[in-house]
Amino acid sequence: MRPLYLLATVATLLPAADLAKPDLAKEGDRWWSHIQVLADDNMEGRNTGSPGHLRAARFVAGEFEHAGLKPAGTDGYLQPVKFKVAQIDEEHSSLAMVRDGKVTPLKLGEDANLAVRADFAERVDAELVFCGYGLSIPEYKFNDLASVDLKGKIVVYLAGGPSNVPGNLRSHYSTRAERWKALHAAGAIGVVAIPNPKNMDIPWSRSTLSRLNPEMELDGESETPGYQFGAVINPAHAEQLFAASGHTFAEMLALADQGQAMPHFPLHAGLRATEHMKLSEVESQNVIGLLPGSDPALKNEYVVFGAHLDHLGVGAPITGDAQGDRIYNGAMDDGSGIASLIEIADIAKLENLRPKRSILFVAVTGEEKGLLGSKYFTSAPTVPLKNIVADINMDMYLPLFPLKSLAVMGLEESTLGADIRAVAAKAGVDVQPDPEPQRNLFIRSDQYNFIRNGVPALTFKFGYDKGSPEEKLAKDWLRERYHAPSDDLNQPVNKPAAAEYNRIMLDLGMRVADASTRPHYNAGSFFKRFEK
Ligand SMILES: [Zn+2]
Repeated sequence: MRPLYLLATVATLLPAADLAKPDLAKEGDRWWSHIQVLADDNMEGRNTGSPGHLRAARFVAGEFEHAGLKPAGTDGYLQPVKFKVAQIDEEHSSLAMVRDGKVTPLKLGEDANLAVRADFAERVDAELVFCGYGLSIPEYKFNDLASVDLKGKIVVYLAGGPSNVPGNLRSHYSTRAERWKALHAAGAIGVVAIPNPKNMDIPWSRSTLSRLNPEMELDGESETPGYQFGAVINPAHAEQLFAASGHTFAEMLALADQGQAMPHFPLHAGLRATEHMKLSEVESQNVIGLLPGSDPALKNEYVVFGAHLDHLGVGAPITGDAQGDRIYNGAMDDGSGIASLIEIADIAKLENLRPKRSILFVAVTGEEKGLLGSKYFTSAPTVPLKNIVADINMDMYLPLFPLKSLAVMGLEESTLGADIRAVAAKAGVDVQPDPEPQRNLFIRSDQYNFIRNGVPALTFKFGYDKGSPEEKLAKDWLRERYHAPSDDLNQPVNKPAAAEYNRIMLDLGMRVADASTRPHYNAGSFFKRFEK
């Protein structure tokens, strides 16, 4: 405890407002202490369905209990989730390009990687058609699938989307389920994606290492009926696909990078694939805690704080890593967000906060497998879904430097935009919209399952100015540590800045929980259609 005389001295020296200022150094250390548990090697990278994930789930449940939250899962704090698992047997799988009867083998891992789904066909032999971005966006009368015959064909597309379509809308139509809906209707049987080298978060040499990881789906009906085949082509080796088409891949990249329309045309080549997979099933856990609201009527409504507990588990070491570290600890992705959940619950208890609406703390599994834990939670919610008024998602927000600016995904879509502006302004932090909509961050984390169910949502990154040293730190982090074993406890992190972020998130949650009306999507927002 702090000696009384010291408090008195401080009170005479500082203006009254400063007395209430949280101790960010202390809170940052406490936040980090949770990450030290979550990203410890003994959690084995918290892969969905692994014993390490279960240990982490029990740790979070214990912390929720310690913070005075009520159990809000189906089994205490836990909500078990069942998954179908498929893992490629690469040795017994193959891929080749077929042109004029000539078969050219493609090297898996180097030229291309096969997508993995439990219900994929074992053998596929089909013609290739290049379709620009492979997107259909009716609102903008944009259709890459018109005027080409796609019956029984594999659609080859460049990842990304037309620059005149707003990022969030483009992101929505780029999800696997939405994209496949249009492709399936056009008669396609599979897809080949080519990443745009300009927008690749991590280089091929690193991303290809994850191709042997198990893929998962929720147990139950497929959301992509008729989807038989998928592959990703290394953009450095993509030119060979175009050799007989009268076009080049370089030409398509140039058009895309200049924001111009790409033509659609048959590649006069096919792919022949044999894919063997090992199939199994696992169970994993969401962890859910409740801070009950204090208002007799509003307590039946819920503000969700969300983060994902799972990461990638144990996998291949990065080439050139002398220690051969195989554990993908996921300290920032998303140990940081889970630690924020715990920290916000702790502060709410320490400061005896009594929000009018209830606050639900939701730690989900299966994010890295395709936002599956949050998908399960929104399909089997433990509180009525229509009573969830907002989702504040905290995923890998990267507190690598002081918090001067917050980049907010979803800022323009709902009234939550005004809420985050108000609480950030109070903290002296700027707010900026998504600076890189082409990275699809709005659909790349769990908030998307809430959005699809009509719940206004936001997610965040630490913001920076273009060309600043902070930008370099963030970009270097993505290139070197994102989904790599080095996202571990031995990395420089700005703990007080994370504490400041936690405070802003808490303020945002409290503001929404105490407001007289619930948040809603703005009249012009595409996502308003999902409101119930
Ligand atoms: Zn991740």
